[in-house]
Amino acid sequence: MSDKQDSKNHPQCPLCEKPMAAEFKPFCSKRCKDVDLNRWLSGSYAIPSNEIGAPEDEEF
Ligand SMILES: [Zn+2]
Repeated sequence: MSDKQDSKNHPQCPLCEKPMAAEFKPFCSKRCKDVDLNRWLSGSYAIPSNEIGAPEDEEF
């Protein structure tokens, strides 16, 4: 329990949970903003690859 973390009055960066900066809303810094942007972009490009048959060499 932590009463100090009142995100209602103090918006936090969704990435690192630091105090939000109005300039980079809703993030705390340009860095986090870029991270989220890259994550979003890569997410749209990336192909969900679960298991592509891992090559297993079993030589006894
Ligand atoms: Zn952040």
